[in-house]
Amino acid sequence: MNDGWFAVDHGRVAAMGHRAPADRVREVDLGDVAVLPGLVNAHTHLELSHLRDAVPPAADFVSWVRGVIAARRQGPSPRAPEVLGAIRDAIGEVTASGTALVGDVGNTLATWDLLGRSPLAAVVFHELIRFSAPDPEAVVEQARREIEALAPTERVRMSLAAHAPYSVAPLVFRALRRAVDRAPFAPCSVHLSESVEEVEFIQSGRGPMRALLEELGSWDPAWVPPGGTPVQFLDDSGFLDAGVLAVHGVQMTNSDLERLAARGTSIVTCPRSNGWTGAGVPPIDAFYRSGVRVAVGTDSLASAPDLNLFAELAAMRAIAPRVPASALLDSATRQGARALAYDGDYGTIEPGKSARLIAVTVPPGTTDVEEYLVGGIRPEQVRWVE
Ligand SMILES: [Zn+2]
Repeated sequence: MNDGWFAVDHGRVAAMGHRAPADRVREVDLGDVAVLPGLVNAHTHLELSHLRDAVPPAADFVSWVRGVIAARRQGPSPRAPEVLGAIRDAIGEVTASGTALVGDVGNTLATWDLLGRSPLAAVVFHELIRFSAPDPEAVVEQARREIEALAPTERVRMSLAAHAPYSVAPLVFRALRRAVDRAPFAPCSVHLSESVEEVEFIQSGRGPMRALLEELGSWDPAWVPPGGTPVQFLDDSGFLDAGVLAVHGVQMTNSDLERLAARGTSIVTCPRSNGWTGAGVPPIDAFYRSGVRVAVGTDSLASAPDLNLFAELAAMRAIAPRVPASALLDSATRQGARALAYDGDYGTIEPGKSARLIAVTVPPGTTDVEEYLVGGIRPEQVRWVE
């Protein structure tokens, strides 16, 4: 909408329209700007922020995973001052670049307090990694107790996540599904079809991923490769539904995407991370053609140069020049909010929803504002509407 106006009352959008009414209380002209709902970064790992520039880009995914494991082992403990300081700085960076809501995946719960004291809304996903699990119910139960010990705030909620099909036992996926089904509020996240090594491992049980599990002492000799694709495996396990965020999808086939679309599962694409980790280029055109819901994430600072979601949109635009800019912007707002089950408050500008809105400076005379917004917006162009 051009020449729009909106009214804010107690932090909520009260009204909006095309031509301002005469009885407005206090009018502020925002100038030559595009007003958007605060963006939604549907996939990041804020607890890895201290690993910025610590793990160089890799030619193949398993090499990159080895790099992260080594960096985490050699690095500071999860609550060390430099880890917490890096999380705090990252939250500042996310906010300054116009993001209002994050899907934050972690293994340490170190981000919980800091997010609670920040202006961000969040779903903090407590993530399970356990390939060899003699008692899968106990693994999930313990994680559930850990998050239940944290009282949710108005803006920060907790849920559970599985790391990936190559790092979580099939019975842990099933136990997690049951736990999530019992919870009142339950988006769930999983890294899925990220690399060719993952696809090979699920298909045949062989390859560099198998070697890595053996090297880590995590291999389970009783595990039988499910065959098929990672998406088929999780779907046949009953794991995929409309509450699941399937992160990456770089190696998904068209029939994988059809399955996800049928289940209502959201893809979260993180193209800059995929390039960094050696996973490859995500098939963004195919994502949109398939009708699957597409959200956007930056992934962590261990595999992305920054946490600016506008920069992620620019990477998507470069890979998929024919996807309409409006669809990319929808992914960075409405789809992300829906995937995180925060669409009652975030993702669109609507009466009753949160007024966490951003004004992005647009050069005068810009004819296609949506296209401009997916071309790479810098944090200096973004301000929060007070
Ligand atoms: Zn991730």
